[in-house]
Amino acid sequence: MDIQENVDLLPFNTFHLSATARYFAVIRSISDAQHVFASEVFKKNEVLILGGGSNMLLTRDFNGLVIKNELKGINIVDESDANVMLKVQSGENWHGLVMHCVEKDLGGIENLSLIPGTVGAAPMQNIGAYGVEIEKVIHNVEAIELKTGHVRVFSKEECLFGYRESIFKQELKNQYFISSITLTLTKKDHQFNVSYGAIQDVLRERNVEKLTLRAVSDAIIFIRKSKLPDPDLIGNAGSFFKNPSVDFHFFSALKEKFPTVPSFPGEKNLIKIPAAWLIENCGWKGKTLENIGVHKHQALVLVNYGGGEGKKIWQLAQDIQRSVKEKFHIDLHAEVNVI
Ligand SMILES: Cc1cc2nc3c(=O)[nH]c(=O)nc-3n(C[C@H](O)[C@H](O)[C@H](O)COP(=O)(O)OP(=O)(O)OC[C@H]3O[C@@H](n4cnc5c(N)ncnc54)[C@H](O)[C@@H]3O)c2cc1C
Repeated sequence: MDIQENVDLLPFNTFHLSATARYFAVIRSISDAQHVFASEVFKKNEVLILGGGSNMLLTRDFNGLVIKNELKGINIVDESDANVMLKVQSGENWHGLVMHCVEKDLGGIENLSLIPGTVGAAPMQNIGAYGVEIEKVIHNVEAIELKTGHVRVFSKEECLFGYRESIFKQELKNQYFISSITLTLTKKDHQFNVSYGAIQDVLRERNVEKLTLRAVSDAIIFIRKSKLPDPDLIGNAGSFFKNPSVDFHFFSALKEKFPTVPSFPGEKNLIKIPAAWLIENCGWKGKTLENIGVHKHQALVLVNYGGGEGKKIWQLAQDIQRSVKEKFHIDLHAEVNVI
């Protein structure tokens, strides 16, 4: 396994941004990982772990070592009448894992169909969609401490999951390489979550009478394909900002001034406001600045139409943050990792 030099990261991020990695290594096995972790290049340089590059905005060349994770493997480690515990290596493709589970009739992650990226990045921001977050099925997360090489198993509680958050994005940021995750999935009596109106509409249109993992997954894939730009065609990293949460008093005052502001329940008795609504109401939806912009159908998605620069997208993101702050007095926080 070689450590390459001066590698363009353009093929490795869904924004399709060009940025040069001073050093670049692909790991396909634990022994590759050990080899890289023991190298002088690893010890002397800043390290960036790269999965599918679908939640990353590269604003500069990376003057360190980029480790591209391709650890593969899906294994049953425990099983009862009702459940299966699946240990999955972190370089597996997330959607590939969802399809594997749908195929084997293992329930719990079907609502997370078609989310790009790797399994290892999924607990980083507690990926979520259509009423389900990965924390619901996580049993544990195995990770290697970059500084010491020690393996640590984090229980679900230790991961400190929140809305698009975990300990790996907060106090342990850039300190661990997630090597595998173990999920608890149902073998029967699946707990379907089809509370979103859009899912019910598709199921009704398709005359689905008996819910199956396949029917729910297919409906979600259909909805996502019709709503979100395909990163293979237009560079993007999905939702650029998190939906902000405000308290009841703030929300009441806001609602008085902007009666049409939508909301939904958040964590800790807070009220979440769709960031897309705020951005759209500041006039950004569909705005194009040369070869970058805000998607015409999804105000939350910033796009690179081709040849755009990461630092210009970050400038655009900051301009959006500023105008939302000025108009609504709300801080928008990036969901995407800005490098
Ligand atoms: C079209 C589109 C739709 C999307 N929809 C959703 C959605 O519905 N819900 C949602 O939650 N997200 C969504 N995303 C965001 C993204 O797909 C997820 O965050 C995904 O988990 C990122 O995986 P990745 O492998 O591409 O991570 P990367 O972008 O490669 O990395 C993201 C971060 O995790 C770190 N990291 C990656 N792997 C590891 C590892 N093994 N160990 C330690 N650190 C690691 C990286 O250093 C970086 O900080 C969407 C993105 C796109 C492009």
